[in-house]
Amino acid sequence: MGMKTYAGKTVFGGIAIGKIRIEGKGKTIVKRCRIENVEEEIKRYHDAMKKASDQLKKIHEKAVSEVGEVNAQIFEVHMMMIEDDDYVESVENIIRTQNMNAEYAVASTGDNFAKLFSGMEDEYFRARADDIRDISDRLLKILADSNEKDSGETMVEEEKSSDNTTLLTEKQEPVILAAQELTPSETVQMDKSILLGFVTQYGSVNSHTAILARTMNIPAITGIEPRPDWHGKMAVVDGFGGELIIEPDEKTLLQYQERLKQLKEEEEQAKKLIGLENITKSGKKIKVYANIANVSDLYSVLHNDVEGIGLFRSEFLYMEGSTLPDEEKQFAAYKQVAQTMGGKKVIIRTMDIGADKKLSYLDLGEEENPAMGYRAIRISIKQPELFKTQLRAIYRASLYGNVSIMYPMITSLWELDKIMEIEKEVQDELKEAGIEWKKMERGIMIETPAAAIISDKLAEKVDFFSIGTNDLVQYTLAVDRQNGNIGDFYNPHHEAVLRLIQTVIRNGHAQGIWVGICGEMASDLELTDLFLDMGIDELSVAPVFNLAIRKKVREHE
Ligand code: PEP
Ligand code: MG
Repeated sequence: MGMKTYAGKTVFGGIAIGKIRIEGKGKTIVKRCRIENVEEEIKRYHDAMKKASDQLKKIHEKAVSEVGEVNAQIFEVHMMMIEDDDYVESVENIIRTQNMNAEYAVASTGDNFAKLFSGMEDEYFRARADDIRDISDRLLKILADSNEKDSGETMVEEEKSSDNTTLLTEKQEPVILAAQELTPSETVQMDKSILLGFVTQYGSVNSHTAILARTMNIPAITGIEPRPDWHGKMAVVDGFGGELIIEPDEKTLLQYQERLKQLKEEEEQAKKLIGLENITKSGKKIKVYANIANVSDLYSVLHNDVEGIGLFRSEFLYMEGSTLPDEEKQFAAYKQVAQTMGGKKVIIRTMDIGADKKLSYLDLGEEENPAMGYRAIRISIKQPELFKTQLRAIYRASLYGNVSIMYPMITSLWELDKIMEIEKEVQDELKEAGIEWKKMERGIMIETPAAAIISDKLAEKVDFFSIGTNDLVQYTLAVDRQNGNIGDFYNPHHEAVLRLIQTVIRNGHAQGIWVGICGEMASDLELTDLFLDMGIDELSVAPVFNLAIRKKVREHE
């Protein structure tokens, strides 16, 4: 047949190489039978509910230890769903009014509710359809087990089918699993040591299954229909590119093996520092965070055991598509990052569009000096509707983890007053709509000399500073960061830059707020000691540099 490549969507980065196993959906036939004793049947259903809750309690415990408290919450949601009044009422009603068996009542209720959810506008509710199917399947399996001793008169009138996946738990050769769909509980119950990666046909990138895959560090892609003839064939899952390669040729296989080896080496290095605190020899705790541009960067973040996201460059969400990302799209991305980080800090920087980060679909006007032009917070302030959409999405995502907001390109105090005014409007609107959020830390980027110089006053208005040295160097030295011809003049070690950094740290500390660096200078190992001597509290770097910085921090006197 030869090599064949299929394109899907990335759920989680990483490379998996191995034999593919097609997980067929064995059909459980749900019989529709008339029952005689309604109360007995309702009791059977309640017994099954109780067993399902007990199972979920155990799964929840396993999930907490494997993927953390926040990500495990989905199983608490399942426990609540099992006992949901509407669901229970519907099942009981079918048993009572139609004299039908519990299996049929559960399968029908599950189908109806799942359809209801999957037709909803809100992405969050749409994703709940999978959870309904998951709990209904669980109840059906339990009922099937309890039905060994058949009950009286059975009159088969019609058959309903329900999906029932056999789980990858028995000891066997590690495989890439391909299935139409995987539910969250199926995913978390899998034995990770024999699961190399997975490919599914259905399932959104924002589903809990996807979140679990990311948290469990399993390369995964979706949007590809598994074919029975792949079973047992060699395959590669390229979670970075969202591709599945069946029967890769020798050259392709070698390339991926090389890549996988590199990733494993990185992982080994990371493991040595796992559990060790980022603390200097004199005992100061330093936050060593990571910068990310999109959700798929989380792969690297988790692989490097990073303890927080110091800069989520949200503008990349705006740059990926051909239209502005709406509130739902942004909410899904922020929520996913917050959830995947499992309660660790996630600092979302509001969009930093403009200068080199242009949008084809948003006219910013002709500019002589775009780096000094209509960009970042200036757009947010002058086009508040755009800004409010983003703020609403961030506020909503705040419930799913430890989210902070950060504003880029601040130069003046009045900008912060204006931002607070707009935030207040968003808060009032959310309150009116009955939408909740959590209090978040609010910080600003210090990336203009003006902000550095008045950082004593700015510090009174925010919870933290993050120094954006890429722009700070450009504006302080009047050297375009994009122009390679004048690269010699772009000197991050320039005394003017270093003095400004020191000023910002002092002013921040004088007001009792923490100060970090998220520009590229944060990963300059020649400067780490100096920054630590200056009193820096946080360094946020590309995930691949995280380990080197952690090592340096631990060596600092
Ligand atoms: C910076 O300017 O240092 C920064 C972190 O922001 P960006 O590189 O995205 O402009
Ligand atoms: Mg910047």
